[in-house]
Amino acid sequence: MKKKIIIGNWKMSLSYRQALDLAENLLEQNNQSEKVEVVVCPAFISLFGVAEKILNSGIKLGAQDCFWHEEGAFTGEVSPLNLRDIGCEYVIVGHSERRGYLNETDQMVNQKVKAVLENNLIPIICVGETLAERQSSSKDFVIMNQVNKALEGIELSGNQKLIIAYEPVWVIGSGQAVEPREAEHTNQVIRQLLIDMYPLEVVNEKFNLIYGGSVNPVNIKQFLLQPTVEGALVGGASLEAETFWQIIKAVE
Ligand code: PEP
Repeated sequence: MKKKIIIGNWKMSLSYRQALDLAENLLEQNNQSEKVEVVVCPAFISLFGVAEKILNSGIKLGAQDCFWHEEGAFTGEVSPLNLRDIGCEYVIVGHSERRGYLNETDQMVNQKVKAVLENNLIPIICVGETLAERQSSSKDFVIMNQVNKALEGIELSGNQKLIIAYEPVWVIGSGQAVEPREAEHTNQVIRQLLIDMYPLEVVNEKFNLIYGGSVNPVNIKQFLLQPTVEGALVGGASLEAETFWQIIKAVE
């Protein structure tokens, strides 16, 4: 059976010192879960410090974004190759906050997914509808389009893996998650699309479908009882070590 995966997205919520403290607090509670892959995604500035703290702990490191080139004259950007070098294994790509505030397009997301995979990192591809898209009944179409474009031209080989996180934009940070059965429905739509794009064994082996949006220690169980929901991307509830561990324990 595949391991469930719980990913903490710390966003720009913590100072460097606070990120190190949170990593330390997580370690105090960490008893290396067999059943759950635990990933933390600090801001770029804190990645190296957190990498040192969590080394050999079983907790994995992820970045919140990266550029699509490995090196060169790209002021302000961060190379996926360098992320790999400092111990990152995962990279969030296409988070709705980047799509929304920074006009990140599906084409940019696609280029980033390719660069992440080429550098032996695992992309966590975020897809989700806005409230307006939902109210115009185009939710499933929007999600299918985002997944399709993110994966355009990508042939999977070797031990490459990908995570697709369904994150309805309108519930992120709201404190009110969607109904777990709705996450299940959306993941089924995504899974069907993947089956149309790749051989079934590739879909089963290489893809994990997860849910994100106001996940907390109380609602996590219901999400993971859904057959296609294999984990969660957690924002607010990952910023406090005890709460984050309550989510992991609930999964176990
Ligand atoms: C997120 O931003 O990826 C997220 C899921 O945030 P929250 O858990 O705070 O809704």
